[in-house]
Amino acid sequence: MLTRIWRSQRGICPMCKGKTTKVIKWNPHYIKPKHLGGQYTFSNLVVLHPDCRRQVYSLNINITKLCYKSNDRIKEV
Ligand SMILES: [Zn+2]
Repeated sequence: MLTRIWRSQRGICPMCKGKTTKVIKWNPHYIKPKHLGGQYTFSNLVVLHPDCRRQVYSLNINITKLCYKSNDRIKEV
């Protein structure tokens, strides 16, 4: 599941736009928080660096899922 999400992001962290790899650890993040009814589904999860994830939580940043077009441009949905 997480590997699939990670692949769909092409290994890019939506927070810092940096690469996440299997060497650099990454953490799942709920786009819609669990306590607001967010589910453990492909569309509701992104993977972030652990540090970025902490920033998202502490600064209350709204993370959107990255979507890649065929021309490789990063587009936020
Ligand atoms: Zn990051």
